[in-house]
Amino acid sequence: MQPLQSLRGMVDLLPEHTPLWQHVEATAAAHFRRAAIREIRTPLLEVTELFARGIGEATDVVGKEMYTFLDRGERSCTLRPEGTASVVRAAIQHGLLSQGPQRLWYGGPMFRYERPQAGRQRQFHQIGLELLGFADPRSDVEAIAIAWDLLADLGVGGLALELNTLGSPDDRARYRAELVAWLEAHRDQLDADSQQRISTNPLRVLDSKHPATQELLEGAPSLADALSGESHERFSQVRQGLEALGIPFTLNPRLVRGLDYYSHTAFEITSSQLGAQATVCGGGRYDGLVQQLGGAPTPAIGWAMGMERLVLLLQRSAEAASASVAPPDLYVVSRGVQAEALALPLARLCRQAGLVVEIDPSGAAFSKQFRRADRSGAPHAAVIGDEEAAAGVVILRELRGDGADRRLSPEQLLAALREGR
Ligand code: ATP
Ligand code: MG
Repeated sequence: MQPLQSLRGMVDLLPEHTPLWQHVEATAAAHFRRAAIREIRTPLLEVTELFARGIGEATDVVGKEMYTFLDRGERSCTLRPEGTASVVRAAIQHGLLSQGPQRLWYGGPMFRYERPQAGRQRQFHQIGLELLGFADPRSDVEAIAIAWDLLADLGVGGLALELNTLGSPDDRARYRAELVAWLEAHRDQLDADSQQRISTNPLRVLDSKHPATQELLEGAPSLADALSGESHERFSQVRQGLEALGIPFTLNPRLVRGLDYYSHTAFEITSSQLGAQATVCGGGRYDGLVQQLGGAPTPAIGWAMGMERLVLLLQRSAEAASASVAPPDLYVVSRGVQAEALALPLARLCRQAGLVVEIDPSGAAFSKQFRRADRSGAPHAAVIGDEEAAAGVVILRELRGDGADRRLSPEQLLAALREGR
């Protein structure tokens, strides 16, 4: 029979890789904790309408990339393609916003039906931050600083922050009209995708990866020229805030996050070490979203990081070496009916005290078990034969030094190991 395979773009994380993931997750959790940001967990499956309304029908994500199906109750369901819409839904549904501003983070799998390649999968993982109920430019700076510091702390190299402002909804409406007129006038020179976007999502044309379109756009009207004085002022406060923190950035007027509810700050953090899929973190201000999903008008800013791309980066750096698996503190070797019956109680005693203990359950010859004990990297073995079992003792053997064997009670063994740590 042919063995079954995972679905295309759905990737197994094998045990050799999970330590690095755990390291990244733990580092992120620590950064969030220190910034007084609390975790929220929402379902992987939501009603399709949440994303249609929350991300926008005209986006690639909703238009082409969602895993949508009817459940057994004929309800249209979608595997979440991103986290923000769900977090905002949950905040509204549970009245969190009436308790005051919310500083939230989330993490977990997301699903998009895309063409898989390095750093791009169909099930991928994000960690993300959402600051709900914060309007001040300082909150934009704080959100960006948290992302920047986390990446720097993880040891990600070649980082660059790209920054733009999309202005207020009014600024953008004005600009949109100007841009559409210009695009219409140059329709023939645009690639097919961009031609289509003129009517559905004209700002996204600016984001086109098409080289000829990119070149043409050099002559397009710029959003910066359409900004009101107030929006200019706001943007300069964000820039000053970043400068004051010593976080370097470049301005990228092409950086648009094509959703209608985005406003003001938009940013991406890229790494020069990533190749084509260079963006590790993307985010921005989305003052319109909470209202769009049925809540009271609430300003907000957030970002999401792609875990796969983060891990790819770390695998290439020396930092990764330090996140390899720690060996057990103790390896338990036993042979004979009575002896084997003592192995698990001994392991439990030591585990309850916080030690990492591996048991050899094979019942194989002692020589074989010792070979495995050596390979485990444990500094000590506990050896139990039937003679020791009858006497209620265990032999503690040093595997990395040349100290003599000691015959100890389980409690004495535990005390000896704790002293030796
Ligand atoms: P891209 O332009 O790379 O498709 P995006 O704008 O669709 O990115 P966002 O929706 O902003 O991405 O998601 C934030 C981050 O999540 C991205 O910067 C990236 O690191 C990661 N990401 C997005 N889609 C995928 C995917 N299919 N596989 C792996 N990581 C992804
Ligand atoms: Mg994408």
